[in-house]
Amino acid sequence: MIVLMQNEFVERDQCLIDIEDRANQFGDGVYEVIRIYDGECFLLDDHMKRLEYSLREAQIDYNLDQHHLKDLLLELAKKNGVHDGGIYLQISRGSATRSHPFPKEATPTVIAYPLNISRPLEAQKNGVKATLYQDIRWLRCDIKSLNLLGNIMAKQHALDVGAFEAIFYRDYNHVTEGSSTNVFIVKDGVIKTHPANNYILNGITRLYIQYLAEQLNIPFEETVLTVEEVKHADEVFISSTTSEVISVVEVDEQPIGNGQPGPIVTQLLDEFFNYHRITSLT
Ligand code: PMP
Repeated sequence: MIVLMQNEFVERDQCLIDIEDRANQFGDGVYEVIRIYDGECFLLDDHMKRLEYSLREAQIDYNLDQHHLKDLLLELAKKNGVHDGGIYLQISRGSATRSHPFPKEATPTVIAYPLNISRPLEAQKNGVKATLYQDIRWLRCDIKSLNLLGNIMAKQHALDVGAFEAIFYRDYNHVTEGSSTNVFIVKDGVIKTHPANNYILNGITRLYIQYLAEQLNIPFEETVLTVEEVKHADEVFISSTTSEVISVVEVDEQPIGNGQPGPIVTQLLDEFFNYHRITSLT
């Protein structure tokens, strides 16, 4: 595997990261997962914009040259022969003697490497189960931070109870998102999802679904959903770069609709690739 480290391409075993890189001790960094379809990065500009946002909000002093980084990522994909798959990109605040305050002199550490991602066709065909899980995370979920302990605990819980995804709620009146996905419902023909604020990550796929809904004349509403609204929705679905769109057919033993993927999620999935060559959503 060829890895991008700062501006250089190196073999994986040559990619040496200092033990005091702040990603290690503090999870002090941000990241992106970018999907590659047919050798092209899907919605790369939008990922770059979100990365810039995460860096700014986390006050990581990194002068992001989007054009340069985009070229490097495309070259990385090429060097690794990635035709269908993905890229993981991480920027930490850098390496310094362990101490909580931001270090004065640290150069952000940039790494990127290819990911094996394939389409979740089985899950898309049959739909998946989800379980509700209290949102134990912090209040800046809009930053795509490396701190994912709350997310991975939720995901493991989901798997432990035989579900595919955990759907977070802050209280019963406030469903936020999934452990690694955005959550949507359909009620009376309207797609509803949490507003893009500090409680959720504004998923690139979420933005793409908003765009698809506009193209397909499906009403799209950003609103806070309750647990009851989710459980009694006509359809529930989740989205992410790796999941694309997946129907949730059961939430904590409660079948959603008739327990099969519904018409709107099916339409979104059918149209997913008709529009995917759009280069930027924002
Ligand atoms: N929410 C969370 C918490 C996530 O981890 C992810 C995936 N990284 C998403 C939403 C979906 O984001 P995207 O569509 O950009 O993959």
